[in-house]
Amino acid sequence: MTIEQKAKQYLEKIKKENKKVNALLYLNPNLIEEAKALDKKQKKGRLYGKIIAVKANINIKDFPISCASKTLEDYNGTYDATVIEKIKVGDGLIIGICNMDEFAAGGSGENSAFGPTQNPSAPGKIPGGSSSGSAVAVAAGFCDMALGSDTGGSIRNPASFCGIVGVKPSYGLVSRYGLIDLSMSLDQIGPLAKSVEDASLLLDVIKGKDERDTKTFESSPIKLEKPKKIKIGILKIKGVDSRIQDLIDKKVHEIKKFYGWEVKEIEVKHIDLAVQTYYLLVYVEFFSATRRFDGRRYGKKIEDSCGQEVLRRILGGSEITKSEFKGRYYKKAIEIKEIIKEELENVLKKVDCLIIPTIPGMPWNINEGAKMKTEEIYAYDALTIPANLAEICSISLPAGKINNIPIGMQIMCGKGEESKMLSIAREVEKLSLINI
Ligand code: GLN
Repeated sequence: MTIEQKAKQYLEKIKKENKKVNALLYLNPNLIEEAKALDKKQKKGRLYGKIIAVKANINIKDFPISCASKTLEDYNGTYDATVIEKIKVGDGLIIGICNMDEFAAGGSGENSAFGPTQNPSAPGKIPGGSSSGSAVAVAAGFCDMALGSDTGGSIRNPASFCGIVGVKPSYGLVSRYGLIDLSMSLDQIGPLAKSVEDASLLLDVIKGKDERDTKTFESSPIKLEKPKKIKIGILKIKGVDSRIQDLIDKKVHEIKKFYGWEVKEIEVKHIDLAVQTYYLLVYVEFFSATRRFDGRRYGKKIEDSCGQEVLRRILGGSEITKSEFKGRYYKKAIEIKEIIKEELENVLKKVDCLIIPTIPGMPWNINEGAKMKTEEIYAYDALTIPANLAEICSISLPAGKINNIPIGMQIMCGKGEESKMLSIAREVEKLSLINI
């Protein structure tokens, strides 16, 4: 099949099915032209012909980068984010822009100004978020792979609910240049795909040191190898639905039996503080990041045009900032972040990886989020946030199903240990395919 034919097939499918799932907000009008040009190309880049959907908070020149918000409804990207430059150089094609929770604030896909995204893998249920459209575009077969962003779980969460693979890279592995911030000390762009191998390929292309993001670091190419004997750390965390925990335990048991890897129960003392710590950091950093949306440059003032969750964070962040006396809140949150980081770093010196569920609960029915308490919603992030606070890498991959709803498991490794993490994940994925 030529790339042009593949692109046409995807567009056909999108035309038929996107109305139902609301995953894509915009399609690249030049896709077929670009595909034709690639078909003629002799020297091929590493992403040659891969068709990629991109979350609406990553800048692409001349594409509407709305962050699924009325605030940026009329904003078109004025430049390419570093990750987009790299995709283009690698001969990848961008098919369109994905729906998301407004400004990446949320974990359900319900908080978009352009309507919720539906879950094709569990009809009627939320697809997870905030990279809802990116996960659904992959799960629905609208593209080969997608880009999302993860501040406290936004790649892994929808990957888990949609039954696909999603990677949150170590902080600084991938440049944030061109990403519209939710919380700049935690945000990372990462891949969503159907397989560990595809996710690894996209990650390997987009990563790298970038002068325009001082937090980025040099890293060697990602290599998937057969891992030697692995020591897995498992963590029992309060508040996890017992059916989910049982499924993950069963999976870990299978891994142990099949590969002869070792399993060790470990403890991370302050992990229960992760959610409060995270939201404090996010409220303050998000409030500060949104001050430029004051109506002068981008059309609308954010407070006048955003949805409820974004407003909650702006008002909350403003309150915290105002009552900040000698940094008693933000500084405290940074201190706890450091403690959790150190605890996880120490644990990861004793084991090769940690395996825990991705989400502690089952996806709720679409639109039910509006009736839930904010704390209840935030509690869904309890297992994904720790990796962001600790700046380490984490992947969510399918672990099985409960009542026909996909359940994800997380594998976490130390900062910069993407090759090891992805190699372990590939073995776990293989095991699911063998289906013992
Ligand atoms: N659900 C989390 C939040 O609402 C995570 C968001 C994200 O990772 N972008 O902040």
